[in-house]
Amino acid sequence: MKFTPDKLPIYGETLESLEQWLFQQKQPRFRARQIMDWLYKKRVHTWSEMTNLPMSLRDWLSETFDLSPTQLVIRKSSEDITNKLLLRLRDGSLIETVIIRAPQKGVGQDTSRKTICISTQVGCAYGCRFCASGLAGWKRDLSPGEIVSQLIQICHLEDPITSRDKNEIASFDNIVVMGMGEPLANYDNLLQALKILNAPWGLNFGARRITVSTSGLVPEMIKLASEPMPFRLALSLHGATNEVREQIMPINRRYPLEELIPAAKLFVEKHGHMLTLEFILIEKINDTIAQADALIEIARDLHAHVNLIPYNTVQGLPWKRPSRRRQNVFLEKLHKNHIPATIRREKGHDINAACGQLRLQIEKNGVALPA
Ligand code: SAH
Ligand code: SF4
Repeated sequence: MKFTPDKLPIYGETLESLEQWLFQQKQPRFRARQIMDWLYKKRVHTWSEMTNLPMSLRDWLSETFDLSPTQLVIRKSSEDITNKLLLRLRDGSLIETVIIRAPQKGVGQDTSRKTICISTQVGCAYGCRFCASGLAGWKRDLSPGEIVSQLIQICHLEDPITSRDKNEIASFDNIVVMGMGEPLANYDNLLQALKILNAPWGLNFGARRITVSTSGLVPEMIKLASEPMPFRLALSLHGATNEVREQIMPINRRYPLEELIPAAKLFVEKHGHMLTLEFILIEKINDTIAQADALIEIARDLHAHVNLIPYNTVQGLPWKRPSRRRQNVFLEKLHKNHIPATIRREKGHDINAACGQLRLQIEKNGVALPA
């Protein structure tokens, strides 16, 4: 399904495409930069705030472009100050954007590092057995403007000051493309969005602080390896042998480990960054010593960092989170073998922070959503 809105989301335009639009309107080229400045540096909420533009241009812009393609429906906070936003798109679809706050090492208690987790699709077609986003299947891809506007929404909520220094960047530290959907299945829109986030005329956000997570679409990983922007890659491995991976990730049948690992290696060689291997721990499925041994081999081969994620229970799914003791045994095994590994504990467990869970819960239980 493809959704064509009445108005184009303005946050999907690049400087060049906006210049083209303005050229057709017989407007001078410099207006495009002025508009970008209002959008990304001053971050205004309305067209009427763009006071250095002629009134007729502001009218035309408001008839042609949508300045708020995502609307906040619910904001949920968890005990560990992870915030989850449920956003509604123009066609009524719901997506999730998450703010994850982590205390900064060596700095005072009240400062924290802020990571924003964004969605790239409504639902997901890949049907991983443990994941809420895949349960109802894929509905549609997000447009570049819908992807970028999740970050603008965060800027508006978290940092509402409008008069700011020209080159000041956003108030968050990292972006992870780990929300709902498979980012590499929406490749062109994702790349366009990342370009806008990274551009000096856009959010001016460093590509090194953007991590794209994939369930392992090999052709797109190879394509991504040749992109010049130096963003990071996280690979959702979740099974260290084909047998186990296949059981929980249907994608493994299309791209088994013997194809996936070389593609990941290529990315690392071309980009020179350390790869992250995401590994959800599910009791008696992939938390065994044999899986730890196989994971050690893969991580060593790729010089990767391993991120262990204790499984978050999803309503209607049979899987269980392993006990603390089992989690620790697995982690220690990796450490003993000199694999850099961390365990992501509890972030947002109480607000359903794993991708797609809040949307699933709201849609299933039919909670009335504010218009
Ligand atoms: N489609 C991409 C990115 C979105 S999924 C991918 O699969 O990498 C983002 C992360 O959320 C993945 O690492 C995924 O495995 C994890 N996730 C999904 N369901 C989860 C659950 N129930 N508990 C913990 N993590 C989960
Ligand atoms: Fe899709 Fe990622 Fe969920 Fe798998 S884990 S169903 S690829 S969103």
